[in-house]
Amino acid sequence: MNQADLESFIKELGLEKFRAKQIYEWIYKKSVRDFSEMTNLSQKVRDQIAAKANIGSLKLVTRETSSDGTEKFLFETADGEKLESVLMFIENDDYDEEDDFYDTPAGRYSACISSQVGCAVACPFCATGTLGLKKNLSSSEIIEQILFMQNLSNQRIGNIVYMGQGEPFNNYDAVLESIRKTQADIGIGARRITVSTSGVIPKINAFAKEDLQITLALSLHDPTNEGRDFLVPINRKWPVFEVIDALKSYVDKTNRRVTIEYVLLNDVNDSVEKAKILGHLIKDLHCNINLIPYNQTNTNDPFTRSSSKNIADFSRVLRQFCKGKTVTVRKERGHDINAACGQLANSVS
Ligand code: SF4
Repeated sequence: MNQADLESFIKELGLEKFRAKQIYEWIYKKSVRDFSEMTNLSQKVRDQIAAKANIGSLKLVTRETSSDGTEKFLFETADGEKLESVLMFIENDDYDEEDDFYDTPAGRYSACISSQVGCAVACPFCATGTLGLKKNLSSSEIIEQILFMQNLSNQRIGNIVYMGQGEPFNNYDAVLESIRKTQADIGIGARRITVSTSGVIPKINAFAKEDLQITLALSLHDPTNEGRDFLVPINRKWPVFEVIDALKSYVDKTNRRVTIEYVLLNDVNDSVEKAKILGHLIKDLHCNINLIPYNQTNTNDPFTRSSSKNIADFSRVLRQFCKGKTVTVRKERGHDINAACGQLANSVS
């Protein structure tokens, strides 16, 4: 419910209109999850509302903390499905100063949230992909992850990335609604929100028309059709050159720089040759590039992290082709609790 919805609800209960604003602020500004904590409401009013309503529907199953402070939360939906969300603190010195998402002096809390339970895209290096698609999350279940983590951590979250479980554009309407609610109700600015897609072209085109100032990221992972057909199977439907063209149109329409995400898998996509092909591919695209050293999920995992030498060579060659673009090697977070990129599989470490 937004404030207008709450006003209708409060009216139905025969309560004064200003109660709606009070409740709205407790839920969206203070992330309270229990009516009993709304201390500017009388006990009678709290009881009356609690008899009719709940705040949110997710249950916390587990909460794990990494040695680097990153936290992973396993939530359960009302229909018994599990999903994971991650909360991390991003210091500013992790990022290039040109990066405009993390520009406060100390840094900010960033939440990585899920848009689906499981995922149908089935990227072979991703733990979520092994689950298959179990369900699309509702917009409420998506934004509740943010409010719940704020409540549990007692921290204000300043940055949201839709990079948890699921392909956000395969749950387009709910994701779009959740973005609008995150901005309007939770108060997180558009430039602090990133949506990452594996390359669903019709939805990239639709997204360009939504008049949002958020950042769009593409999980590219290989610059060739042959390699990407394997690593990001949705490429068989929407090939890499067409995806890059869709991103160029997106930039033209929105004036927003996009982000290219590229996971570095040892001896799979991390050669100097691939770095050159990637450099050519994105030469005319207004973008930054985020290189992600792979996080192995378990010892049977066929993929391994690129060697330090391969990472250094790949980023050096790519930078030569990417003048005016920022090439960042992402700092690892939450690896020890399987909370890092590609590791979310609804399990407890
Ligand atoms: S990497 Fe993203 S798109 Fe691919 S299977 Fe995992 S969650 Fe789905």
